[in-house]
Amino acid sequence: MELVILGAGTALPVPGKSAAGHLLRVGETPLLFDIGPGTIARLSAAGVSYRDLEYVFLSHHHSDHTLDLVTFLQANDSTPGWTRQRPLHIIGCPGTRQFYQKLMEVYPGIAPQTYQLDLREIETQRTILPFGALQAAFTRHTENSMAYRLEAEDKTFVYSGDAVETAELVALARGADLFVCECSFPKGWASAEHLNAAQVGRLARAAGVRQVVLTHQYPPALAVDLAAQVRDEYDGPVTVASDGMRLVF
Ligand SMILES: [Zn+2]
Ligand SMILES: [Zn+2]
Repeated sequence: MELVILGAGTALPVPGKSAAGHLLRVGETPLLFDIGPGTIARLSAAGVSYRDLEYVFLSHHHSDHTLDLVTFLQANDSTPGWTRQRPLHIIGCPGTRQFYQKLMEVYPGIAPQTYQLDLREIETQRTILPFGALQAAFTRHTENSMAYRLEAEDKTFVYSGDAVETAELVALARGADLFVCECSFPKGWASAEHLNAAQVGRLARAAGVRQVVLTHQYPPALAVDLAAQVRDEYDGPVTVASDGMRLVF
């Protein structure tokens, strides 16, 4: 599998740390985990057209993870000389159907015209998709926020979305080959909604993951050696994500 970081940041406009977007390539299939503002343009810059995108996973509905869903749906219905035929699968946490319906109230013109939209709310059941097996866990960042685990091509990818430190996240990340984990703040920074570096290190160690990629940094996390702080708790490889970074695993 290959991971391309499309957005390593948060809702704050920071160069090189755009809002959340993570492209995972499983064989020929591009999968998008979160679709924050600007993600579709950066997807294109990474060599994948929105025309070829069939799967979008939403961890939760905060704007820094979802705003470019509007851009994407708009593009699908208004590209000169091209009509989308292939279905689009949007897989999200509970409440995603209502979120989508509200978007349609605000932007009725972006509703699919020529293609089928498969919108699925997922909970913690194991779901078999054409390219692999998906599992999710609640992360307690919001009441319905979720992390995802995808097993495909004999590898395991886990994406935390926005999260706090829980046993459920440890269980979901167990033995992952690549754990993309939000690391919003430096160690010692207390937050009831996000993870700091010490917490990420503890999660990674407890889950026994093979490597960690730190995403979703707020400015205070950019002012320290975040990877070193995670390594204080965890012995494996740690990478601080930035926009455009590629990792093959
Ligand atoms: Zn966020
Ligand atoms: Zn959030």
